[in-house]
Amino acid sequence: MSVKSTIKCNCGQRIVARDVMQTGYYLRLFGPSFVYVKFRCSRCKKLGEQFVKQEEWEDGILKDIPSELNTDQKEQFQTMGPITLDEQVDFHFLLESPILLDKLTEGISLEDPKTPEDPQDGSLDADKPHT
Ligand SMILES: [Zn+2]
Repeated sequence: MSVKSTIKCNCGQRIVARDVMQTGYYLRLFGPSFVYVKFRCSRCKKLGEQFVKQEEWEDGILKDIPSELNTDQKEQFQTMGPITLDEQVDFHFLLESPILLDKLTEGISLEDPKTPEDPQDGSLDADKPHT
């Protein structure tokens, strides 16, 4: 994944999503539209702003590393370390546990528990009238 355009502070620090304080959208009838970004640089702590042409704006522009994780999750996973064999075994047994299945199906009712075939008092004879 290559990022063509980046946002940079005057000091040269790359601006990423966590530095952004405000974004706006400048739509113009003629000429290119712009995305407006107001940020506080994580290095020099100065406020800055930049207009990016809409055509140069892309999803990865504010990401430091292409990743689906946010910063908190990244830090969390880094402190957790590698997955151990014990954890894999635990997970294996967790998958086999019927309790887990119950939890997955909790709140999901495929059909009404009261089936229409349930015999009710007198209803069977009423459905088949003899004449
Ligand atoms: Zn800076």
